[in-house]
Amino acid sequence: MYELVEKSEVFNVHEMVIDAPEIAHSIEAGQFVIVMGSENSERIPLTVSDWNTDTGTITLYVLETGMSTLELARMKVGDSLYAVTGPLGSPSEIRDYGTVVLGGGCYGIGAIYPIAKACREAGNKVISIIEARYSFMFYHEKELHAACDQVLYATSDGSKGKKGKVEDVITEMLENGVKIDQAFFIGCTQMLERCSEATRPYNIPTKVALNSI
Ligand SMILES: Cc1cc2nc3c(=O)[nH]c(=O)nc-3n(C[C@H](O)[C@H](O)[C@H](O)COP(=O)(O)OP(=O)(O)OC[C@H]3O[C@@H](n4cnc5c(N)ncnc54)[C@H](O)[C@@H]3O)c2cc1C
Repeated sequence: MYELVEKSEVFNVHEMVIDAPEIAHSIEAGQFVIVMGSENSERIPLTVSDWNTDTGTITLYVLETGMSTLELARMKVGDSLYAVTGPLGSPSEIRDYGTVVLGGGCYGIGAIYPIAKACREAGNKVISIIEARYSFMFYHEKELHAACDQVLYATSDGSKGKKGKVEDVITEMLENGVKIDQAFFIGCTQMLERCSEATRPYNIPTKVALNSI
């Protein structure tokens, strides 16, 4: 059984640290697990946003959207998940690209973290741009700052960073002549589309996590 060893919430996004040593020892950036809260639960995919081989734990960020994510959100420290299967999916392709920009919204703020870390380890300059409606909706910031050369913010109300979205920050960077060699985006479908449209005129190789398809 996969014990929930830590849990916290930032405005509908639940950080779940789960005892899963085999996964913690084999996971790579960009991979996910399939989770069942209880025996009769639906199986749902969730990105592994962090892991610790010393403690044998993995960290998931769960955005409460429907039945299955609500079931996970209601679990308490000490409870166990019925099943956690993985690592699944192809790891992100990480190379020494030059300057890498990562954009994250909702659970993507957590999900871009391992890619940022791996890109930095591969020798890239790493700039992360994260978006939320309000400044108090950000999370995992300390870790992201440690993994990146720069972390930029966009908020709908302008309470932190640029008033706007990830693509507004990227457009401004590109208009100011910043050279971006590779972009990765994780977030809602609309965000992925808008960000891809922002990098398209500059022919920047862009990868997005098509999790909703
Ligand atoms: C590879 C992969 C990795 C993912 N990683 C994460 C993660 O790290 N954290 C996280 O919170 N979620 C992640 N998701 C999305 C997550 O799996 C779904 O939100 C979850 O299955 C919804 O289940 P539910 O029963 O709570 O909601 P449902 O009742 O199934 O759906 C509630 C609402 O959310 C919409 N919805 C359902 N699935 C998705 C989806 N995949 N994308 C967009 N909208 C959806 C439905 O259309 C509906 O409107 C990932 C999905 C994939 C495919």
